Amino acid sequence: MRTLLTGWGRTAPSAATLVETGDVAGLLRSRPERGVIARGLGRSYGDAAQNAGGTVLAPIPGPTTVDDETGVVTAAAGTSLHDLMGRLLRERRFVPVTPGTRYVTVGGAVAADIHGKNHHRDGSFGHHVLSLDLVTPDGALRTIDPDREPDLFWATVGGMGLTGVITSVRFRAPRIESAYVTVRTERIGGLDALLRTMRAHDDEYHYSVAWVDTLASGRSLGRSVLTRGDHAPAAELSGGAARHPWRGPADPRLAVPVTLRAVNRLGVRAFNELWFRKAPRDAVGLESLATFFHPLDAVEGWNRLYGRGGLVQYQLVVPDDAEAAVAEALRLLAAAGQPSFLAVLKRFGAAGPGMLSFPQPGWTLALDLPAAPGLVPLFRDLDRLTAEAGGRLYLAKDARMSRELFDRTYPRADEFRALRRDLDPDGVLTSDLARRLDL
Ligand SMILES: Cc1cc2nc3c(=O)[nH]c(=O)nc-3n(C[C@H](O)[C@H](O)[C@H](O)COP(=O)(O)OP(=O)(O)OC[C@H]3O[C@@H](n4cnc5c(N)ncnc54)[C@H](O)[C@@H]3O)c2cc1C
Repeated sequence: MRTLLTGWGRTAPSAATLVETGDVAGLLRSRPERGVIARGLGRSYGDAAQNAGGTVLAPIPGPTTVDDETGVVTAAAGTSLHDLMGRLLRERRFVPVTPGTRYVTVGGAVAADIHGKNHHRDGSFGHHVLSLDLVTPDGALRTIDPDREPDLFWATVGGMGLTGVITSVRFRAPRIESAYVTVRTERIGGLDALLRTMRAHDDEYHYSVAWVDTLASGRSLGRSVLTRGDHAPAAELSGGAARHPWRGPADPRLAVPVTLRAVNRLGVRAFNELWFRKAPRDAVGLESLATFFHPLDAVEGWNRLYGRGGLVQYQLVVPDDAEAAVAEALRLLAAAGQPSFLAVLKRFGAAGPGMLSFPQPGWTLALDLPAAPGLVPLFRDLDRLTAEAGGRLYLAKDARMSRELFDRTYPRADEFRALRRDLDPDGVLTSDLARRLDL
């Protein structure tokens, strides 16, 4: 059945045949015209899980097992982190890394080598993977790990589905002390103070992230709300939390029923002002896992609030010593007057060995913007700034990067292409993103 698919940003739709099958090897061996790409829950913003005119493979469901003693989880690639969290909380454990939404699959988490608020401590998802079951383009099922076939393993981690279809993942789930997080929330008046505080104190907390008001300029440039936290010990909970210390995240309580452009400059300015002022100057409180990690998941289909044009997420990373580039990016955004409702700054720790993995030590800034033609010059300036600072853009968020920029900023691009040529000489696996970046 031909289906029109988009990423979470709802830009660049393309039609493909969406297939549900347990016989992944058979599907790949049949070499469908214009190739195949696996899809998770479509939470990448751009065209990574699309394949115009070709075949797209729906998530592969299956059982999850958890080893009580070691915390080793074996999960089907199509399992969502939402479902996984429910299961793991019963074992007093949590996922090792979670992005800003729990509606992603384990396969999508590995393929994008996702990072969370704990990257400075725990690295990205791939860092916690013990082994993978991967159906390669020739239809062979291979179990790979960082020791057996390290090249294929580290090309698959962050490889955006282009080395094979992941069917199952084994990873370690850490123990936690309750389903709550002790969170310190601080209002910070400007960028210098924010960068200084994060640089000096992030390591004291398991999780750290800052929301930045991108419409603030001048002396207020970079004013932000910094939240840092640690899993709360069950013995220290009070009230409802103490009565239900292991209550897991619920399904969304609200849904956006129609696509309606509700995000505009005025609204964003009012929201940003309110958000900044409602945050305490400096306070410590208890938050559920859902509130702390996935506040947007409470509203199903919130991306529809950006209207038919959709939204673009621009996520860059620049090295530790290139913090001037963060200031310049915020200055460019404020000067362009573009309303970014969600702007997040985080400090990454060490990079992993994933060939195309995004994280590198330094500063990552993510900006959600309503898609509009006026963004083109801004993005061109941000691209130049990022590349000159020695940084790059995140493939899982990207919908528009050029091949030139990709090649300039991903030093292992050609190594990945060479591996793909050997593994998949006939190009069985492909996606809109792969065509755009000539991967
Ligand atoms: C609100 C929101 C917040 C987010 N926050 C973060 C964040 O904090 N950190 C972060 O890193 N990311 C973040 N993301 C991005 C998200 O984590 C990634 O895009 C993730 O890959 C989405 O997973 P998915 O299952 O929806 O995969 P999809 O978007 O469907 O696919 C993503 C990629 O994975 C590949 N893939 C999927 N399943 C398989 C499989 N079985 N085998 C091989 N390849 C496969 C696809 O081919 C595609 O290339 C966020 C996204 C949203 C919408």
